[in-house]
Amino acid sequence: MNAHVEIAELQTRLEGVEERIASACRRAGRDRSEVSIVAVTKNVSAETVRALLELGVRHIGENRWQQARPKWEAIGREAVWHFIGHLQTNKVKDVVGRFAYVHSLDRLSLAEELERRARAAGTEVFCFIQVNVSGEPTKHGLAPAEVEPFCRRIAAFPHLKPIGLMTMAPAVADAEEARPVFRRLRELRDELNACGVLPQPLRELSMGMSNDFEVAVEEGATWVRLGTVLVGRSSTLEPVSSESGRE
Ligand SMILES: *Cc1c(COP(=O)(O)O)cnc(C)c1O
Repeated sequence: MNAHVEIAELQTRLEGVEERIASACRRAGRDRSEVSIVAVTKNVSAETVRALLELGVRHIGENRWQQARPKWEAIGREAVWHFIGHLQTNKVKDVVGRFAYVHSLDRLSLAEELERRARAAGTEVFCFIQVNVSGEPTKHGLAPAEVEPFCRRIAAFPHLKPIGLMTMAPAVADAEEARPVFRRLRELRDELNACGVLPQPLRELSMGMSNDFEVAVEEGATWVRLGTVLVGRSSTLEPVSSESGRE
């Protein structure tokens, strides 16, 4: 593996992604500064995370603590870590204090544990409430109708900072098919803010992945979670090592 080639490859990919985000913003009449990238590094090594940091990508997303751990220990607070995967309650103690953002708040027991651990650690956790907009039984997340009562329950948790909503669109061949899902998440956010369910309005929308981020940006995404398109395997990227390989 050659770190220089790798960072050059990453740079090319990042420029391509930047161009596509900028175009989507122009089409939607949005400012580019409204959209941030979380680079999803679940399938790549700490070296690749370092290369991303060198290229100015600071927000790093991981979906399992076991996989993230060696990278977190190598890099620590140089990156801003986002926990984007389903979060088991017994992993909250590992995540709080290390991950600034949790994108997968989907149940009260998790909110309670995050609050408890954040209070104990003297920290706060920025949270996205995960919504299962598409209603697929295999997906995590609250049903849209459950989000308002959920917000009322967590509004009183001082160490939990709900900042927005997150969704995963169905895997579809044509990203256009995901548009209604993204639009519904934006409408839901706006409805929640209109009824003032939380002391602070929800500003953020975490939506859009490698195959649908442009549509998500057109529909109002403020965070796109990008893995494959940025750091996906190619001949010049290092292979995934056996320890960090698939489970
Ligand atoms: C893996 C993952 C992503 C990134 O997926 P790509 O299609 O590779 O961009 C985004 N969000 C979550 C929750 C993920 O687990």
